Amino acid sequence: MSKLRTGLLVLAGILMPAALPAYAGDCPGNPDALGTSRTLTVETSALPRIGTMQYNRSLPLDDHEVVITFDDGPLPPYSNRILETLAAECVKATYFMVGQMARAYPDTVRKIYNAGHTIGTHSQHHPFSLGDLGLKRISSEVEEGIASVQNAVGDARAVAPFFRIPGLARSYQAESYLADQRLSVWSADEVADDWHRRISPEQIVIRAMRRIEARGHRGVLLLHDIQPATALALPTLLKELKAKGYKIVHAVPAGERPQTVPDLPASMAVAEGGWPRVLPTKVAETTAATEEPARHSARRHKRLSHRLAYALKHKKHKTRTAASAFRS
Ligand SMILES: [Zn+2]
Repeated sequence: MSKLRTGLLVLAGILMPAALPAYAGDCPGNPDALGTSRTLTVETSALPRIGTMQYNRSLPLDDHEVVITFDDGPLPPYSNRILETLAAECVKATYFMVGQMARAYPDTVRKIYNAGHTIGTHSQHHPFSLGDLGLKRISSEVEEGIASVQNAVGDARAVAPFFRIPGLARSYQAESYLADQRLSVWSADEVADDWHRRISPEQIVIRAMRRIEARGHRGVLLLHDIQPATALALPTLLKELKAKGYKIVHAVPAGERPQTVPDLPASMAVAEGGWPRVLPTKVAETTAATEEPARHSARRHKRLSHRLAYALKHKKHKTRTAASAFRS
């Protein structure tokens, strides 16, 4: 974008800093928190497409500024663990939720919103070929996804007009439809490959840091809050960002939003035929398909659950391991 056009957008008040950013020094009980340095209000008309992985522009971030995003959730217990990590560091993130997941776990959707994070959407069933579907299917996936998340959170104004195409499988048809709906299409500037079946928390941290650095020490980072490895990686990732002098920016939509929504009691898992294949068992034993759903199995889930439980129990050891791996 030209400097002239950028200046006009700022003059028009299209991109406005929020009134009450949460500074690191304000983080209760953690004077060394990474914190959230500022809030960036994103107006869809000014930023219809975001993320240099697929588009020619991204959020107007300064040097060493990062926006953290989470896709595919929510899914207890991983989403909850990630929420705890974000809260401990007073970091605000942007979520792209799947409609079916929001329907299954509305209490977690509300918990995320009430923690001050931004909630966008990511389709109803997470089809991996959204861009190639007919317009009718595209519109139903997008609209149902938004409706499900709005119903889960209990207030339509709480859901941002931010949409991320599943699998980043863009098409001109899908982008044109989303533009007509006045939705900002979010790609990303960096991914950490945290959907891979065998990636370790250490590798997630390493790849995220290297790619943020490679892209000019800034960017919109895409992660997944349904992945146990991501939940394990996040504490170390936030500490590494802090150590390297990065600041977190919280992207929020323009317009009025409720400050909080009423909490719900914990919900039961809902078994449905499509994505995300929530298992009809106790909440603590449920999981969802990853970006590789065909490989998903109850056996794999059990292994990952045990791994997460062990790692959380031995959190210090894991954190040290990840940190030393990054240094090497
Ligand atoms: Zn996804």
